[in-house]
Amino acid sequence: MQLKMNYGFVSVIVAAIAITCISICDFGTVYASKRSPETTADSIKPHQWQTVRMRVTAYCPCPLCCGEYSDGITANGHKIDPGDTFVAADKRYAFGTEMIIAGYNNSQLVKVLDRGGTIIGNRLDVFFNTHQKAVNWGVKDLAVKVYLN
Ligand SMILES: [Zn+2]
Repeated sequence: MQLKMNYGFVSVIVAAIAITCISICDFGTVYASKRSPETTADSIKPHQWQTVRMRVTAYCPCPLCCGEYSDGITANGHKIDPGDTFVAADKRYAFGTEMIIAGYNNSQLVKVLDRGGTIIGNRLDVFFNTHQKAVNWGVKDLAVKVYLN
């Protein structure tokens, strides 16, 4: 009898916590939808990230990786500096599109600055300054975060 009562008491607490949580969530939703038309880009940022499953390979500016295009200039005219971090992506991602790729550039934002003949659909090529680093990256299937403009 004692045990049963304790159990009942715990259930009431759990229910109370659940109700509290739902109330908070509802409030948040109403608040966001009311404000969304005039909010700044920063405040609605979380809603503009899309996660896309991608096959991520790597390349460097060498002739082995770029063939005839190994001139140190990306497809959008960016002159590559040592230590640059950017990606080559399919045309569906405009130049300047921001992405977060786990393990690349310390998992910080990088931009799409280049294209590649085999970089089609859900494929990305991350840029490294040396061929060895590109080889070390290998091929990774990752959930890439894409910032929708
Ligand atoms: Zn290379």
